[in-house]
Amino acid sequence: MKAVSRRLSLSAASTRGRARRPGLGRKGKSRPGASARRARAPAWERSRFAGRGRQGAARSCGVWARGRAVARGRKWRRAGAPAAGRSGRRRSGRAEPAVLLSDAPPARTAVAMSSVSPIQIPRRLPLLLTNEGVLLPGSTMRTSVDSARNLQLVRSRLLKGTSLQSTILGVIPNTPDPASDAQDLPPLHRIGTAALAVQVVGSNWPKPHYTLLITGLCRFQIVQVLKEKPYPVAEVEQLDRLEEFPNTCKTREELGELSEQFYKYAVQLVEMLDMSVPAVAKLRRLLDSLPREALPDILTSIIRTSNKEKLQILDAVSLEERFKMTIPLLVRQIEGLKLLQKTRKHKQDDDKRVIAIRPIRRITHIPGTLEDDDEDEDNDDIVMLERKIRTSSMPEQAHKVCVKEIKRLKKMPQSMPEYALTRNYLELMVELPWNKSTTDRLDIRAARILLDNDHYAMEKLKKRVLEYLAVRQLKNNLKGPILCFVGPPGVGKTSVGRSVAKTLGREFHRIALGGVCDQSDIRGHRRTYVGSMPGRIINGLKTVGVNNPVFLLDEVDKLGKSLQGDPAAALLEVLDPEQNHNFTDHYLNVAFDLSQVLFIATANTTATIPPALLDRMEIIQVPGYTQEEKIEIAHRHLIPKQLEQHGLTPQQIQIPQVTTLDIITRYTREAGVRSLDRKFGAICRAVAVKVAEGQHKEAKLDRYDVAEGEGGREHILEDAKPESISDTTDLALPPEMPILIDFHALKDILGPPMYEMEVSERLSQPGVAIGLAWTPLGGEIMFVEASRMDGEGQLTLTGQLGDVMKESAHLAISWLRSNAKKYHLTNASGSFDLLDNTDIHLHFPAGAVTKDGPSAGVTIVTCLASLFSGRLVRSDVAMTGEITLRGLVLPVGGIKDKVLAAHRAGLKRVIIPQRNEKDLEEIPGNVRQDLSFVTAGCLDEVLNAAFDGGFTVSTRPGLLNSKL
Ligand code: ADP
Repeated sequence: MKAVSRRLSLSAASTRGRARRPGLGRKGKSRPGASARRARAPAWERSRFAGRGRQGAARSCGVWARGRAVARGRKWRRAGAPAAGRSGRRRSGRAEPAVLLSDAPPARTAVAMSSVSPIQIPRRLPLLLTNEGVLLPGSTMRTSVDSARNLQLVRSRLLKGTSLQSTILGVIPNTPDPASDAQDLPPLHRIGTAALAVQVVGSNWPKPHYTLLITGLCRFQIVQVLKEKPYPVAEVEQLDRLEEFPNTCKTREELGELSEQFYKYAVQLVEMLDMSVPAVAKLRRLLDSLPREALPDILTSIIRTSNKEKLQILDAVSLEERFKMTIPLLVRQIEGLKLLQKTRKHKQDDDKRVIAIRPIRRITHIPGTLEDDDEDEDNDDIVMLERKIRTSSMPEQAHKVCVKEIKRLKKMPQSMPEYALTRNYLELMVELPWNKSTTDRLDIRAARILLDNDHYAMEKLKKRVLEYLAVRQLKNNLKGPILCFVGPPGVGKTSVGRSVAKTLGREFHRIALGGVCDQSDIRGHRRTYVGSMPGRIINGLKTVGVNNPVFLLDEVDKLGKSLQGDPAAALLEVLDPEQNHNFTDHYLNVAFDLSQVLFIATANTTATIPPALLDRMEIIQVPGYTQEEKIEIAHRHLIPKQLEQHGLTPQQIQIPQVTTLDIITRYTREAGVRSLDRKFGAICRAVAVKVAEGQHKEAKLDRYDVAEGEGGREHILEDAKPESISDTTDLALPPEMPILIDFHALKDILGPPMYEMEVSERLSQPGVAIGLAWTPLGGEIMFVEASRMDGEGQLTLTGQLGDVMKESAHLAISWLRSNAKKYHLTNASGSFDLLDNTDIHLHFPAGAVTKDGPSAGVTIVTCLASLFSGRLVRSDVAMTGEITLRGLVLPVGGIKDKVLAAHRAGLKRVIIPQRNEKDLEEIPGNVRQDLSFVTAGCLDEVLNAAFDGGFTVSTRPGLLNSKL
């Protein structure tokens, strides 16, 4: 809820405009006899006239006028109502009749009247329950309505009601309204404020919500709640009988003294403000013209008070008590202002003016309004913000911008959209770590130990990272290259980035770039448009709070492009050590030095990284793991981590290495260890259930023991000795610890194996060969199948192939055709012209995946050679290599990943191009031992290695269908 202050601070014109608005009292259109009436009117009434100066009536006077009008039983008529209404107004005999809500039809007097008390509210009031803000008589506030009961009240009283009476509500403060009307009415605060609903704004979509502008009339006390649904209605007793003070206070003299004292403080407070501001001058006049009894309520709502204090003032029914309670509040405000002025004395002239204006800003909302705590806090926040700007260590240029912006902010009304925008901007500026950094603790030996402890294997990566750190140790302000770890998912790229931050003692922040296709994501939006915000880099800096964190730019290869610009281009500036010391985010619009930030990028492939970006990074390949490495990683890191996450101990679960191998080979097919990790998670969850159940059963058994004695328990335990989780499923006894995860348990938990070795089955016919492919997800084996049929020499290729792959297929056929005689390759009719009356179909399975690249050349040749010779390719051989028309085999990339894939698939022989021999050094020793490598310089060698007994001419006779 936000109390809306009546703003005397507005210009004369706007005040005038508002004064004409319904419900605010009509502007003093001087009519004949008005001055005479003014002279006749009692003091407080005269003040009402006085309040309506050239600049329009202060709203609080309007409130008063209305209050009095109601009190005297005057009929309120809608402005511009039909003749009857107008005559009614005439009958009222007042120059300034109060005006009813503009949308209500002319109404008869519906307010109960009393000739004794000046203000008489109805005996029965519908209750509006509020919880934030306290409405005091004589002030106005805006309150939002969204609970069921309050909504009902608004609908049936304000939106449907046609009488003046229907616009009078009892506002009960400090009482949260239950969201649904099914709930009981909460305990109601004893005293409330009768209020006039001046305005209802709202909508029914997407859900009903209204905002009420309500004006406090007088206090009342609940005598009895008459009904609770659909909205509460209570019989009330009016408490403010303003002209009958003797009833509520001891003597007039005593009150006179108190009110005099109060008045003096009020005058002192107002005079501390800048009288040249019209609103302040008006307030000063109002102090004289308003009845003294009204001042405590009105001033309490103006000065800085908490809701609790306002509530106490509301509860102070006795006027004497009210004066007594308000005086200390006034004194506090005066002291506060004095202090503020003192602390700002040293400031320059224009700053002084700001000091003068600031309290005035507050006062400008004064007459007859409540000022909400929020607003006060806002003002205080701005003072704080200003102080922060002054004390912050931002560069001069940024400082200048901030000073300029805060000056603008102070002059802006809070309701302006730009206010929030500017404030957010300034808050970001002071929060940014312009000069805050952590001290690097660089100890290469410690870094090595930490990296080794956190990660198994990945020697090459660790070596390069250590080199990088060592150079940093020697040269502090290294403008080094940006490291980019490239490798399949789940191989620990992100995790190494985090370790680097840990070794350096720096903050770590990950920026996920996958799918980012708007350059404003990197560089921020310009502040000219609503909803603008800084980019991810500046946001990241704000989050970590230091200017030298480690930023991990995750998935740089997955940056998109769209109409909103190219984020990769924006990254260029961020990553270029030559430029990033004055990186300018569009939102900040001032340069920020990024040179202390250590950027590490990760990607699955370099193919999709824009060349300009690639140029600024040093690529470090992180290949997939071998089975043995995976087993080690699993047992050293993944399993302990999962056990900890699931609250298990090694005494409760045991996963032998064979089981891990089973999971690796039969439940996962990946280069990294992410899904392996997930599988362990699944196992731990299943075991956790068993362990928890076991504890439960144990507890039960203990109870049983107590009943049955020791003997019974031993007997039961002897019978049941569960071996693995699968055996324990339905046992009445807790499983024996540790729970052993064997193959059966695996099947129970993870289901039947997902991958089976299918290699030998698939190679049981001629015309199939195994190639090795590289994908961003690691290496893979790929079956190439060929078949021939009668036709006209056409080649059909299927399996979503790229252009390069298609070219390889054509090359392979041409080479085979030209060497058909040499190898005795014939078509179905025995002719050496292989395509004579023959069509060939080549298929690369997994048709949904697009495949491209030259490395399938040797595989296609082998596959077709098998087809035309009718011989089977060895079922344990896989190959990779690009071919030329002359039959040479050219080197290809990704050898390590491909070899690992062959190893995973259980193959024994791998044919690679001769010039890739050097890449074999990267292959872990155990894999090299398991595999035999054939390095081929030409296709002859490939074919010889791919077929049992070679493929030379001499071996040809009698070898048709040798394996069949
Ligand atoms: P990436 O960023 O390459 O996709 P992550 O860094 O997210 O992979 O690694 C996935 C999980 O595998 C992490 O929990 C990580 O700790 C673990 N992991 C990967 N490689 C290793 C390794 N060599 N040693 C220990 N844990 C590893």
